[in-house]
Amino acid sequence: MIIFKTVQSIGKVLSKLILENKKIGFVPTMGALHNGHLSLIEQSKKQADITVCSIFVNPTQFNDQTDFQKYPVTIEHDILLLEEAGCDVLFLPSVHEMYPQGTALKQPYDLGFLETLLEGKYRPGHFQGVCQVVHRLLSIVKPQVLFLGQKDYQQCMVISKMIELEALPVELILGPTHRENSGLAMSSRNMRLSDEGKQKAVAIFNSMQYIKEHITQEDVEALQKKSIDQLLKAGFDSVDYIAICNAHTLAPIHTYQPGKKLVVLVAAFIEGVRLIDNLMIN
Ligand code: AMP
Repeated sequence: MIIFKTVQSIGKVLSKLILENKKIGFVPTMGALHNGHLSLIEQSKKQADITVCSIFVNPTQFNDQTDFQKYPVTIEHDILLLEEAGCDVLFLPSVHEMYPQGTALKQPYDLGFLETLLEGKYRPGHFQGVCQVVHRLLSIVKPQVLFLGQKDYQQCMVISKMIELEALPVELILGPTHRENSGLAMSSRNMRLSDEGKQKAVAIFNSMQYIKEHITQEDVEALQKKSIDQLLKAGFDSVDYIAICNAHTLAPIHTYQPGKKLVVLVAAFIEGVRLIDNLMIN
């Protein structure tokens, strides 16, 4: 695996590969890698000639500075995992390399409704920062295929919208959420949890499963309320939301409509760590 730290050096090598008609697959990450990230690398290796991974903890997407400062960094281990996974290129830029003109966003992305609810509501500015960094990374790596995880369901929709707004020539492929045997979704943030915290955090998966199994029989709002209570009882400090939404538009539903594709999305705090997860229903 070749590691690049500057835009110029990676650009030189990748533009040569593009001229040779090599298909470039790209997996952007913030590091502290786990099997969820590696499954995206694996997918890219199957579908592209060259797999590029980036590790960059993007300051502009953190609305909470403490969360940014506490974000886990395990770069040596990440490099070993990527080598083992057969990743071809790792891009490891500094903040200055990514934002030579500063981090201020010149023009906000018109994300519309998507930015007004769930993560958009609870993390103001977060998705603008996500679009800013992904847009910049895509302009540097110029991949034909971009691999993202459904674990960040709303983020996938936002990036898809940004790609459409900017008319970027890249195909988006979504990978399924990888979970621990317990059901807990793999996340870099899990590293900040105690063993007990990890056990308690399985309540997110259980509450989503409960909703999935009872959506046809119980009132939507009562189900959401019951699930919030389940999380608090299981040891969560607070719950930002448990929402049942239309899987295509993300509009929250208030009554169950058979035949509509739905997704349940959760964000909640445990041991001071904010976890998010989602599950497709029917
Ligand atoms: P992150 O490093 O958290 O920014 O994530 C980088 C990419 O990995 C994003 O596209 C995430 O959606 C994806 N990802 C994170 N966790 C998982 C998981 N448990 N399963 C599959 N993909 C994931």
